[in-house]
Order: sequence, then C-alpha cells, then structure tokens
Amino acid sequence: MKHRFTALIPIAPRPATIFTEGTGSWLSDSEGHRYLDFVQGWAVNTLGHCHPVIVEALQSQATRLINASPAFYNQPMVDLAELLVANSAFDQVFFANSGAEANEGAVKLARKWGAIHRNGAFKIITFENGFHGRTLTMMEASGKPNWNKLFAPKTPGFIKVPYNNLDAVVDAIDDETVAVMLEPIQGEAGVIPANQDFLHAIRKLTKEKNLLLIFDEVQTGMGRTGSLFAYQQYGVEADIMTLGKGIGGGVPLSAMLVTEAVSCFEPGDQGGTYNGNPLVCAAGCALLKTLLKPGFLKSVQASSLHLQQGLSTLAKHYGLGGVRGRGLLLALDTLQRDATAITKQAFDHGLLINAPRPNTLRFMPALNVSLEEIDLMLNILDKAVK
Ligand code: PLP
Repeated sequence: MKHRFTALIPIAPRPATIFTEGTGSWLSDSEGHRYLDFVQGWAVNTLGHCHPVIVEALQSQATRLINASPAFYNQPMVDLAELLVANSAFDQVFFANSGAEANEGAVKLARKWGAIHRNGAFKIITFENGFHGRTLTMMEASGKPNWNKLFAPKTPGFIKVPYNNLDAVVDAIDDETVAVMLEPIQGEAGVIPANQDFLHAIRKLTKEKNLLLIFDEVQTGMGRTGSLFAYQQYGVEADIMTLGKGIGGGVPLSAMLVTEAVSCFEPGDQGGTYNGNPLVCAAGCALLKTLLKPGFLKSVQASSLHLQQGLSTLAKHYGLGGVRGRGLLLALDTLQRDATAITKQAFDHGLLINAPRPNTLRFMPALNVSLEEIDLMLNILDKAVK
C-alpha cells in the first residue's frame, strides 16, 4: 500500500509504518504486524493503549458534553482539580493541553509572583540537558544541546547551570532571580535522577532566598516513578508543579499546580480555549482514580524491580552499562554500542523502545505492564543487542 507521507511536515525520523490499533502493551500496524510497546506515546498511555476505563470515560463524557467553554465550570474539570489537590501538596490547578503549555503557565505565574513580591525579579534558573517543551520560551528554558542556536531571538530570563550542582545554582542567583525550575528526574536527558541531597539543598536555598521552586513532573508524574509524583520519594515539596503526558492516559491534557501562598493569577492572566475541557478531564479523572486504587502503585514498584533485574542481567551478559531511574521510567547505558541501532533492530523484532541519547535506551511501558510482557521485552531486547 502506498502512503502519502509527503503531505506531512517531517518532524521526526519515522518508520514507514501506519499504526492502526492498540490494546494494553500492544500496537498493531496496517500490515497486521504486532509490536510490544515500551514507549507508550513517550510515557503518555499510562494504562496502555485503549484501556477500558479511559475508553469508557471518553465514551460516556462524549455523549453528555464535549466542550462547554473555558469561561464556564464543568463537572470533570472540577472533579479532577479536586482529586489532584487532595492527593498532592498543592492547592489550585490550571489545566492546559501539553507539557510545554503547563510550563509556560508556571513561568508566567513565577514572573507575576516576582512582579508582586520580588521587585520585578523574573529570571529562572534551569538546568543543562533539561527538557521543558518546544514552544519558543520552553526551548530556551530547556538545556538541550544546540537548541540555543535555533529560532532567534530567544526569550530572555533563563540561566542554565549544571544539574546536581548546588554551587552553580548559588552562583547563578542574583537580585533578578525569581525561581529555580527542574525535573526531579531528567527524562529526555537520558533518565538522570536528581541527587537526594541536591534536591533538599535546593529547597532550603530557595526558601532562604525567597525564590520559588518549580518541579516539572510532566514525565515523572502520574505514577510513572512508582509514587503518584516523584517529589514524594524525595520528600521535597515545590511551590509549583507541572504535569502532562500521562495525566490524560493518552489524550492531550496537562496541568499546573500551585500552593495557595504562591497562587496569584487573576482573571485574564492565563487561559486557553481547551483549558479544562470536560472530555479530556473525564479521562484524567478515570486515570487518577485507577492510580489511587489500593495496590496499584505497589504493582508499579514490583514491575520496576523485575524490569531492573532483567536489564541488569542482560547488561552483565553483554558488557553494557548500568540501569538508572525509578518506577517504570528506566534507562540502560549501552556504552560503545549504538542505542539507536538497537532500537531499529528491536523494531524489526516487534519491540518499540526509545534511545534518548546515542548510548542510552529508555523504557517507559504502561504502568500495568505484566511481568510476562517484561520478560518478552527482555527476550526481544536480547536478540536486538546480539
Ligand atoms: N517537560 C518534560 C519533563 C517533558 O519530558 C516533556 C516532553 O517530553 C515536556 C515538558 C513537554 O511536553 P509536551 O511535549 O506535551 O509539550
């Protein structure tokens, strides 16, 4: 069959395959091939493809109300905000459509707070190799190598320092600094966790200097690391947190959460046509209620252990590097082996995995992936590495 791929702007190197169906950890293409999916839309399909609770929530909401207006309340919007607030360290929520948009909201809020409380301070300290999205401002907030050369002129006000380096943060602070923004685990950088001491010291420092702390949990949130949010494992609470990716279980939804003390938007400061849309918020409610069921996050931790053990055994066998990460956001260093070539081999064997760095493989399966599926993945990975 001939596909008209040329009608699409090429934004990523994509295989010439059209995916047509998905169930749980499995995707099928138009030729009838099946793939074990350990990418899951880049850690988006929290419960795998087309999970019944997500499908049911979307179907039943679609027959009642698809879109009211961001100018009106709707039930799923209110329910999801209440659920998020009840289960986190934050008091208020702004909904958006993508991680980048939630982060833009966080930056705007921090700048407004700076205008009110810090004499117009606006600079935000972010981190080398960090990733916060692809809007013009988020590209500048991100520390992705070579991005600073693109799409000039840049949004001013982002100071980048090395991750896990407290002295660099201290040195970067001046009178115009308003916040420090970071991922508790840098996902796109190749799953690099913040050191426990570093995160605690950053919280202490930001409190002492009257600066805001912003956690970007777009990738690490919603159970991905084995707790509802990664910050809970570190025991460090921020002033602002952003969520995206997994929060909608596959549909475009994101959120910015803030503590009452810092919440300072007034009507007109922030918004968006699809903000709090009932269809996607209904999916978000269904997803969060599933994550909160007794035992769910424990099973993520058990699956994580199983996957970590399997990856370590494979790494030992082939002389690969260490396994990193938490929960079901794990990475394996391939050292001198080409990780992208391994993902291509894996694809040919019916396995979807991702290489965020030339020598790093990343694993982000559905949180309800079975132990058998993990074993099958390890089996195929073994063939791909061989
Ligand atoms: N923040 C983090 C930590 C991410 O990993 C990503 C996407 O990978 C984003 C923000 C951007 O999210 P989106 O692509 O939905 O704009």
